[in-house]
Amino acid sequence: MKTRNEYIKSMKKMHFELYMFGERVPNVVDNPIIKPTMNCMAATYEAAQEPEYQKAMTAISHLSGKRINRFCHIHQSIEDLVYKSKMCRRLGAYTGSCFQRCVGMDTLNALSMVTYDIDQKYGTEYNKRFLNYLRYVQDEDLVCCGAMTDAKGDRSLRPTEQTDPDQYLHVVDEKSDGIVVRGAKLHQTGAVNSHEIICMPTRAMREEDKDYAISFALPSDTEGIIYIYGRQSSDTRKIDSPDMDVGNIRYGGQECMVVFEDAFVPWERVFMYKEWDFAFDFVEKFASYHRQSYACKSGIGDVLIGATQLIAEYQGTAQASHIRDKIIDMIQLNETMISCSLSCAYEGHQEPSGTYFVNTLLANVAKLNVTRFPYEIARLAQDIAGGVMVTMPSEKDLGHPRIGKYVTKYLKGIEGVPVENRIRILRLIENLTLGLGAVCYLTESMHGAGSPMAQRIMIGRLADMERMKRAAKRLCGIES
Ligand code: SF4
Ligand code: FE
Repeated sequence: MKTRNEYIKSMKKMHFELYMFGERVPNVVDNPIIKPTMNCMAATYEAAQEPEYQKAMTAISHLSGKRINRFCHIHQSIEDLVYKSKMCRRLGAYTGSCFQRCVGMDTLNALSMVTYDIDQKYGTEYNKRFLNYLRYVQDEDLVCCGAMTDAKGDRSLRPTEQTDPDQYLHVVDEKSDGIVVRGAKLHQTGAVNSHEIICMPTRAMREEDKDYAISFALPSDTEGIIYIYGRQSSDTRKIDSPDMDVGNIRYGGQECMVVFEDAFVPWERVFMYKEWDFAFDFVEKFASYHRQSYACKSGIGDVLIGATQLIAEYQGTAQASHIRDKIIDMIQLNETMISCSLSCAYEGHQEPSGTYFVNTLLANVAKLNVTRFPYEIARLAQDIAGGVMVTMPSEKDLGHPRIGKYVTKYLKGIEGVPVENRIRILRLIENLTLGLGAVCYLTESMHGAGSPMAQRIMIGRLADMERMKRAAKRLCGIES
């Protein structure tokens, strides 16, 4: 397994064509906006080396028999699925952020099943190709960026009905040694912190959409892939006041728009090619795993609840019964989220490929909770923190020779707690509920791994309504 420093060194060697704020970024490692996000990805390497985290963070490869990072592992048991949920929560609490690496893990696991199933139907060799690729990813301990969401253009139209055919990523040329692809993937978490990018279809397809039913992997810095860095609220605080005012002084998340400008993919890295009838299956498998991964939000919830308890203590309100009640509500919501992630793991099963897969109904329930509960937890945190969280002066004012003494005097809370500590905790709550951290704690909770409606549709489909009706009829004496 790579160490944290080896990972960062490996990213130094990448040659991304990356743009941010209208300018080309020559080096991802030293950029102050990117740095906390790379630290966050590096935490997935760092934690894997800690004895205390080893069980959750590592696993034994079914290919090589070696100990590997769990993010590169194919789940071989229910226990693996359960440890995955626990890992996501623990890393969420460790970083207070999106640590970005789950998308790759969830893509690899979906591919392990879908390539096998396509081969069974069509006699293709995708699974063999995939396993060769997987061995490389595991041996080198790589970060893979799983890329699903197409631009989609007019949402009421299917891929082939769009006026611009590039609104969904598609194949534009077929050569003897590979294919040429064009289009874009949006909202790509951890894109320029990754070694590899793995694309997959974004929706169910029909036969006429078959040029869009493709999956492949490329080194992330392949020629013809362009990255455009996403803006986040308060992002320039990382440049002008990177200590106190950013709230989370160590970590952050990252998203990019990724453009494929006629990128070439060799055949050995193509894992699905026009098998349109497996596109939905692929989406469902990836999405279910990824909905489980949102256990990360319980970890961030741990941070926010801890921060809220601290600010109540620093401000002298912790003993008020309504404050205690609100904190208990926050804990209940947070533990409900992790309960569902764990339950979809415990209720998992083995697929024909050998990979263990989560219970999809419960994974969708888990994620639908995540679209709501963090907002309520954030509301309660803001309620307890008070308005000062958004009105207090900056860290530069605190250190100012003329006015610093007034900031210190009038932002004081209880005796014995330095004013700086109160400001730091308030800034962390600000970060998580409406600043940089809210990108992943709130909006990503809403839309990541599919927007709420996607989960509602799946829950409606997967719930066993006949069983429930039978139970009701039996008890009231309806015979049919
Ligand atoms: Fe992982 Fe959560 Fe980030 Fe998705 S939002 S990549 S599940 S940490
Ligand atoms: Fe996500």
